[in-house]
This record gives sequence, structure tokens and C-alpha cells, in this order.
Amino acid sequence: MRVDNFGAGPCTLPLPILEEAQAEFLDFEGSGMSILELSHRSSFYERMHEEALSLAREGSGAPEDFEVLVIAGGATMQFAMIPANLLADPASRGAYLRTGTWGRLALADAGRWGDAYCAWDGEPHGYRRMPELSEIRIESGARYLHVTSNETIGGIRMLEMPALGVPLVVDVSSDFLARPIQWELCDLVYGGVQKNLAPAGMALVFMRRSLLDNLVGTLPRFFDYRWYAAKGSTGNTPPVFPIYMMGKMLKLLRSLGGVTGLEQRTAHKAGIIYDVIDQSDGYYRSPVDPRHRSHTNVVFRLPTPEAESQFLKESNAAGLVGLKGHRSVGGCRASLYAGLQLESAARLASFMSDFRETNS
Ligand code: PMP
Repeated sequence: MRVDNFGAGPCTLPLPILEEAQAEFLDFEGSGMSILELSHRSSFYERMHEEALSLAREGSGAPEDFEVLVIAGGATMQFAMIPANLLADPASRGAYLRTGTWGRLALADAGRWGDAYCAWDGEPHGYRRMPELSEIRIESGARYLHVTSNETIGGIRMLEMPALGVPLVVDVSSDFLARPIQWELCDLVYGGVQKNLAPAGMALVFMRRSLLDNLVGTLPRFFDYRWYAAKGSTGNTPPVFPIYMMGKMLKLLRSLGGVTGLEQRTAHKAGIIYDVIDQSDGYYRSPVDPRHRSHTNVVFRLPTPEAESQFLKESNAAGLVGLKGHRSVGGCRASLYAGLQLESAARLASFMSDFRETNS
């Protein structure tokens, strides 16, 4: 039996694409082999790879002057690659918004490569909100501003991308395609794919060509964005299975109205959970600023730690799994990514209402 999986990533994938992958698992498109066995230099693979990358461009609306790259290693790998590529000139600095765990870790990794500073710190506010534009400090030498569009653990999201005259680098790991990307303001957009798109194992990266063309310095090929762009992300053996599943997911999302459809469905799912929270007379609490509430990661608390563990125990027994908040913050969190059905969110909402009635 399949459960309602609210895990923060890896996360639920739609049953139709899992079944499709299962049906062709032993023989991919008449090749006589599984997708897992095919050479990445075969025409079977090349076709699939090209299609997945062009679906990523189409699905996200990325303009033609962006390169679309797939890079093994996930978003944490990008925390290293971004400063390695963009801070090669020792006079340049990386500006980072410390908006939660992920912004903090991106900044920490950048500091291991070069000069990176905190352009706004949300820690004193308990990571409960995103900064106002006027609070962000762009200092001299800033080569880029790094932003986390949605903080997966804190459950907050940026509303507008900050246009401050420096190239914008955006980690969209946990809300990719859950709303349109403001491409005109962005220069490098990236995310681990294991939330809205595919199984774990790689990052999808969009990079403005002018930024790419101006990279300086020498890096081992695996770290160098120029190598991925020059080789169509097949310089070495690419992460075949995530690319294959991403293609399937993007096709499905296209048939469901693309980013507009997903944005509406995500807002709807989030709306029904936040409504239960807001109408619970304080039994459930959302710890974040209502303006910046995430639509993909709904974080909530119950009156006591005991009530929270009882809630997690009973919800799990009812087939609603993955609701435990991140171990660093505790509480509860419902992740509402693309693969999660509206019915799953509705079942959670009704479970929450029943649980409150029985326990308050
Ligand atoms: N950024 C964000 C916003 C994330 O949510 C995560 C993972 N939860 C990461 C970065 C790290 O991603 P990965 O596990 O792919 O390295």
C-alpha cells in the first residue's frame, strides 16, 4: 500500500511515472536493456538526455541565453561549485543571505573557497522571515548575491527576487517550478532535483551565458561549469536515472498545465493546511511570519512536545508519513511538492482537525 508521503526530500513521486518507469525497466524503448544498463554514448540515451534538458528549459521558461546543465552531486555540490567558479578572481566576494539552514551552509562552504560575507542575517530573528530589500548589504567587490528562494527547514520563502545590481544566484531546491522564476533578475538558478522533480543524485543548473563566458581561472573539469556547457553535461557519465525520471516528471507536469498549474496546485495544498492551523484557536501554531510562509514546506507546532510526538505517532499509523520537522528544529513539517496529490493534503488537513478535536 502506498502512503501519503510528506517527506522533505527525497520525496513522493507520482504513481503514473513510477509505473511507467517500472513498465520499461527491463527494456528501454526497444533497446533490449534497462535504462540503467545503457551506454550514455548510445543514441537511445542521447535522445532521452536531450529531451529531458529541453523539457527543463521549456517547463521552467528559461530564456535561450541560459545554459541548462545537469550536474551530479545535488545542491550541496553547487554550494562548492558556485564560489569555485565565480570567486576565482581573489578580489571578488560572494554576498549571501543567511535566511535559514541552507543559506547558512551555502555561505559556510563559500567561505571555504574564497571571500564570502553575510549580506543579511536571519538568525537573530530565528529564521522566521526573509529580508526586506533595504536590509540587504551589497559591499564593494560583491561578485554575486546568493539567495535561497525557499528555506526547506524553516518553512519560509522569498516573495520577490532582490534586484540590487549584482548577479543573482538562486537556490530553488525546494520550490523549483512551484512558482514562476523571475528570469530577468536571475543569473544562476540551481537546485537538487529530489524534491519537485526526480530521485536524488544531481542538481539542475541554469546559467546565464554572459556569466559563463566571463568565468576566469582553471578548475578540475568536474568543478568547471564551462566543461558542462561545452559537453552538453555529458563530459563524463551523467546521473542517468535522475535525468530519465526528471524527463518523465517534466512531461507529466507539462500535461498538468506547467508551472502555472503547479503553482496553483501547490498554493491550494498549502492553503488547506494553513487554514487548519489558522482556525485551530492556537492549537496548531505556524512559527513563521505569515507573509513569508512557504507553500512547499508547511512548518507547524503543537502545544507541547508530548502532543507533537503523539501527533507524529498517530499520523504515521494513519499512513501520513514524513511529518517530523527537521531534527535541528523539531516540530512538524508537511512538504507539499509536485508529486504530492491534493487528496493527500486534504487527508492531512482532516487528520489535523480530528486530532485537535480529540486532544484539545
Ligand atoms: N538547498 C536547499 C534549499 C535544500 O532544501 C537542500 C536539501 N534539503 C539543499 C540545498 C541540499 O541539497 P542536497 O541534499 O541535494 O545536497
